[in-house]
Amino acid sequence: MDLFEYQGKQYFARYGIAISPGEVAVTVDEAVAAANRVGYPVVVKAQVQVGGRGKAGGVKLAADRAEVELHAGNILGLDIKGHVVKRLWIEHATDISKEYYAGFTLDRAARLYLAMVSARGGVDIEQVAEEDPGAIVRRHINPLDGLALAEARSIVEEAGLDAEALDGAAQVLVDLYRCYVEGDADLVEINPLVLTPDGRVHALDAKVSLDDDAAYRHPEWEEFEGTGEIDERERLAKKKGLNYIGLDGSVGIIANGAGLAMSTLDVVNQVGGSAANFLDIGGGANADVMANALEVINTDQNVRVILVNIFGGIVRCDEVARGILAALDRVSLSSPIVLRLDGTNAVLAREILAERASDQIINEPTMLAAARRAVEVASGEAAGSAGGRS
Ligand code: GDP
Ligand code: MN
Repeated sequence: MDLFEYQGKQYFARYGIAISPGEVAVTVDEAVAAANRVGYPVVVKAQVQVGGRGKAGGVKLAADRAEVELHAGNILGLDIKGHVVKRLWIEHATDISKEYYAGFTLDRAARLYLAMVSARGGVDIEQVAEEDPGAIVRRHINPLDGLALAEARSIVEEAGLDAEALDGAAQVLVDLYRCYVEGDADLVEINPLVLTPDGRVHALDAKVSLDDDAAYRHPEWEEFEGTGEIDERERLAKKKGLNYIGLDGSVGIIANGAGLAMSTLDVVNQVGGSAANFLDIGGGANADVMANALEVINTDQNVRVILVNIFGGIVRCDEVARGILAALDRVSLSSPIVLRLDGTNAVLAREILAERASDQIINEPTMLAAARRAVEVASGEAAGSAGGRS
């Protein structure tokens, strides 16, 4: 789960990392009231879960009330890379001498944490990473050792931070490490981490991505959930316990097993289509799971056809077929289904489905044939698509 900047900063603050005072605002009036309390000059900052807000016009300094009104008015409703700004963070502005970068993530291949620090932080860090990767110091941290202040200090020195920033930055790195590990994050980043003219080191931005698998031991994370930018389909799928990821194509996909689901996406792509989702119903392909899956896919306005690709191993295809029929009694589908059922009891499954066969339920013997047929139906070429969404 990704946090908004203002939530990430509050997370940082719990671990002692210095941030600027600020307030959330959702209207221009609230922004002005917040600025009055926070104290001028302020920064008006778009709260969206995507980087590059500054370059997109989503971060503006305001010296007085009129400028807050102007910028808040412009930024609210702004579309930043497909994310519409609904919330602002009004923060007391900081004087900046230098902009650095600091972050932690997991290096899965090395099975170690990775500290990343650069003296060249700010809005162009992606460009620095590409053109001059040596400007970002990367150091593995063994979770069994943790990160001592002396090592943090050697990392910021190696990164070439200014002398007056070294002590402060080393301490921030130690605090950020604790935030990352004890806070159960997958990724924490401060960009920019700034040095102020009076020698303080301070977090001006926050990127925090929490590890969803640790949610059970963080009841306090609930407060983040209501505000998150979760895809409506994904919200519904999660409620129904499905392993679903929304995509933007027109072929809804249901498969059993993550591997088969991914192959199905590939084959749909290969024959010229595009998937509307990834959905692995796992081993529990019973009527209930099938109905839930169809229900979620049915809410997606882009879907023109549903491709069900089941390989019966432990799951028996006749169970799946009964599940589909039961699901059809529960859900009124707006798209036809193309089915590929293979493996245990596939023949029996086809017999069961034959009773209800129509242009709404199309059987194909192989994954490739089913994908082709689905893509035809999605593009409106198939003769049997008359019953589909008009
Ligand atoms: P991002 O573009 O989404 O990464 O948004 P940031 O929060 O990192 O802000 C972008 C840039 O705005 C920063 O790199 C700073 O240069 C500038 N900025 C942000 N906050 C302040 C501030 O308090 N004072 C000043 N002078 N500049 C700021
Ligand atoms: Mn930033």
